[in-house]
Amino acid sequence: MKIAIAGCGIAGTAAGYLLSQQGHEVTIFEQSEHCGPVGAGILIQPIGQSVLKSLGIYEDIYRQSAPLNSIEALKHTGKRLIRLEYQNLRSDLYGLGVHRGLLFSVLLSLAKQAGTVIRENARIAGYHVSKSGVSLELKSKERTEPFDFIVASDGSRSALRSASGIVHQTVEYEYGALWTTGGCTAVNDRLFQVVEGTKKLAGLLPIGNSECSFFWGLTVAQFENYQQQGIEVWKNEVLELCPLSEELVSRIHSFEELTFTTYRSVSMKSWWADRIVFLGDAAHPTSPHLGQGANLALEDVWTFSECLKQKTEFRSACLLYESLRKNKIHFYQQMTRWLTPFFQSDGFIKGWGRDIFLPVMSQTPLLREQMLKTLCGFKSDWMKSQIPQI
Ligand SMILES: Cc1cc2nc3c(=O)[nH]c(=O)nc-3n(C[C@H](O)[C@H](O)[C@H](O)COP(=O)(O)OP(=O)(O)OC[C@H]3O[C@@H](n4cnc5c(N)ncnc54)[C@H](O)[C@@H]3O)c2cc1C
Repeated sequence: MKIAIAGCGIAGTAAGYLLSQQGHEVTIFEQSEHCGPVGAGILIQPIGQSVLKSLGIYEDIYRQSAPLNSIEALKHTGKRLIRLEYQNLRSDLYGLGVHRGLLFSVLLSLAKQAGTVIRENARIAGYHVSKSGVSLELKSKERTEPFDFIVASDGSRSALRSASGIVHQTVEYEYGALWTTGGCTAVNDRLFQVVEGTKKLAGLLPIGNSECSFFWGLTVAQFENYQQQGIEVWKNEVLELCPLSEELVSRIHSFEELTFTTYRSVSMKSWWADRIVFLGDAAHPTSPHLGQGANLALEDVWTFSECLKQKTEFRSACLLYESLRKNKIHFYQQMTRWLTPFFQSDGFIKGWGRDIFLPVMSQTPLLREQMLKTLCGFKSDWMKSQIPQI
């Protein structure tokens, strides 16, 4: 089949590789002038690691990343809120802190090697279904040649979602994060976070090569305030809350060195329509508090490509794909939506409740096991039975 992929991100490149490998003729359309290795650190969970193993790129990624034994969160007072150790679930499990740029580069070169064509500087505005197939409509007013179907993997702000007419609900969070990556040796074996109520959140995610991805949660209004007050005011607040970030933060001299992102959560009634299927953040963006986005995107792509291999016909593949992914995606969407206000929101009650209940929950064996299974991405029996490495 002739397949158009919208968006050259994690899902788009992985889909390009797997679908080209199946013998399809694949073109990725990307809005950026140049597809390059950008982004922050991401935590690849055991389920995501299994997909990377199935793609044959795990060893390469692992060598340049940071294996992490746990996730830990402290209160600003130094009191521990939670520490979840992967080994408490199974002795061979760990998280992998990876630079998104590294994962992206490896996936992109796989896709190119498999024959995927990349079209840069091609911003998609919509699509058009005709008797001869489906064409993408670009912002430049160009209409592409017809394809058999589109894989929409154009991220959380997907232009194709509304164009598809599929019913969906969007929650825009007022909160987001400032993030950057840089040298930091103070934390190297865990995802480390410090919180003060639900207003302040700082985190360090080791990503290998003595580097960490640093993030600082804040609202749009707070970001505007900091910009007016100047970078030193912000740096002082960061160092007061998270002294372990000093090596990295002391090298930041302007807000231009940081990226500000806001979050959104979208629920779609269905992830496919006539000649279009949605994967990754285009299908189900969430806030990053549960750290599952890239993992879910990789699983989506792997599952969809298996469904297409099995069913050979687009509609049947989509029906199977949706039935296999539905429960898991809904579970993670709901968990993330529920969890987000406990880390970033107005008011003190949620932070107060979190500070009381989280330490108790994480020390209760049955609850800790469920939390670890959720973290690892194991809330899906289907994936576990399909990917042998898990
Ligand atoms: C601060 C932060 C921290 C995160 N941490 C984690 C983590 O620890 N673990 C984890 O699993 N996930 C994490 N995530 C989420 C993760 O980054 C995403 O879930 C993942 O990148 C989704 O991949 P994707 O391919 O679906 O979308 P993306 O990687 O966003 O790719 C979308 C692509 O589509 C292109 N595009 C968009 N619109 C158009 C258009 N109109 N036309 C053409 N091209 C277009 C974009 O330029 C981009 O290349 C984090 C996210 C953020 C913001």
